[in-house]
Amino acid sequence: MPDFDYDLFTIGAGSGGVRASRVAAAYGAKVAVAEEYRVGGTCVIRGCVPKKMLVYGAHFAEDLEDAKQFGWDIPQARFDWISLRDTVLKDVDRLNGIYTETLENHGAEIIHERATLTGPHEITLGSGRTVTARHILIATGARPHLPEFPGSEHGITSNEAFHLDALPKRVAIAGAGYIANEFAGIFHQFGSKVTVINRSDQLLRGYDQALRDRLLQISITKGIQFRFNAQFQRIAKNADGSFTVETTGHDPMDVDLVMFATGRVPNSEGLGLDAAGVAIDEKGAICVDEYSKTNVDHIYAVGDVTGRVQLTPVAIREGQAVADTVFGGKPTTVDYDCIASAVFSHPPLAGVGMTEGEARNKLGSIKVYESDFRPMNMWFPGGTSAASTK
Ligand code: NDP
Repeated sequence: MPDFDYDLFTIGAGSGGVRASRVAAAYGAKVAVAEEYRVGGTCVIRGCVPKKMLVYGAHFAEDLEDAKQFGWDIPQARFDWISLRDTVLKDVDRLNGIYTETLENHGAEIIHERATLTGPHEITLGSGRTVTARHILIATGARPHLPEFPGSEHGITSNEAFHLDALPKRVAIAGAGYIANEFAGIFHQFGSKVTVINRSDQLLRGYDQALRDRLLQISITKGIQFRFNAQFQRIAKNADGSFTVETTGHDPMDVDLVMFATGRVPNSEGLGLDAAGVAIDEKGAICVDEYSKTNVDHIYAVGDVTGRVQLTPVAIREGQAVADTVFGGKPTTVDYDCIASAVFSHPPLAGVGMTEGEARNKLGSIKVYESDFRPMNMWFPGGTSAASTK
C-alpha cells in the first residue's frame, strides 16, 4: 500500500465538509481540510445563520406595532441597519471561530489555501505545495447563479446583502424561491419597497400550492409587490445611482437595489476534476452514488456541489454518512424521503414529505385536512400580524 500524507483530504469547510472531517478524525483518520475563505460555509458565513438573524431583527417591526394593542406606549421606534448588520457580522466571526475550533479539537488540520486536484490522489495547494491523500472529499458548495443580460452586473446577490452600507428605499428581487421570499420579508419589514420579479408565474416551486397561495396573498396584503412572467431584459444605471429595470410584460421600474435570487450553481470549476477523472453532469454538479462516491473509487463529494438537495442538514447528513462509511466501518446511505424544510419568509412556512399534488399523483384519491389557526395574540383587530392569519 502506498503511503499518503493524509487519510482524508477535504476541499471545502462548509457544513458537509466540516462534519465529514471531524467525524473521520474522531475515527482516527489523519485529516486535512482546505478552505480558501472562512470555516463554516454558506450556511454559517453568508446564508442561514446571518439570514435568520436578519429575520429576527425584521420581526420587531411588526412586534413593536402589535405591542401597542397590548397597552405598550412605544415612542417613535427607530431602526438602525448598520447596528444590526455589524452585530450579525460579528456573530459570523464568532461562529467561524467555533467551527475552526471544532475541527482543530478533533485533530483535523485546516489549510487556508485553495486546493486543486492534480492527480487521482494528489492535491496541489495555492502555495504550490503538493500533498497526497488516500481519500478525497469534495465539499465546495455552490454559489449564486447570475443571469446574463445587459446591465446584470449592477445586481447583487444574497452574499452582498449582508454587507450593505445602507438599506435600499426600493428593491427589486429577481426570483421567487427561498432566498427571494426570505429577503422580500426582511427588506419589507425594514421599510424598503419590495418588488419580487420572477420569470414564471409561480413562487416557491415545489412547495404545497395551498401554502404558496397563502404566502402570496399575505405578502401582497403586507405591501410586497410581485411581477410574474417577467424576464429581465436590461438594467440601466441612472445618474442618481438608482437603476431602471426592464423586463418583458411590465413597465420599466426604478429601484435602488437589484438582488438576484435565481438559484445556485455547484462550485465544481477549477478544482482539477479532469486531472482526477471525476465526472460532472450537464449542470456542473459532481455525479455521485448513494454513498456520495464519485466515479473515482476513493473520491467522494457531498453537499451543494453534488446538486442533490441544497439544504444544510442534508449536507451534514451526507458528510456524516461518508465518514461512517469510509472510516467508521459502517456503510451508510442517506434517506432523501421526507426531508423537512422551512422558508423564513414573513410569515415563515415549512413542509415535510409529499406535497398534496405529489400525493395525488402517487396515490390517486387522497383526503386533505386543512386547518386555519389564528394565534390568540393576533386576535385584536388591526394588528399588523392579523393579515397573516385571515
Ligand atoms: P430557488 O431554487 O429556491 O429559486 C430560484 C428562483 O429563481 C425560482 O423562482 C426560479 O424561477 C428562478 N430562476 C431559476 N433560474 C432562473 C434563471 N435562469 N433566470 C431567472 N430566474 C430563474 O433558489 P434560491 O436562489 O432562492 O435559493 C437557492 C437554494 O438555496 C434553494 O433551492 C434552497 O435549497 C437553498 N436555500 C434554503 C433556505 C432554507 O432552507 N430556508 C434558504 C435559502 C436558500 P421558477 O419559478 O421559474 O423556477
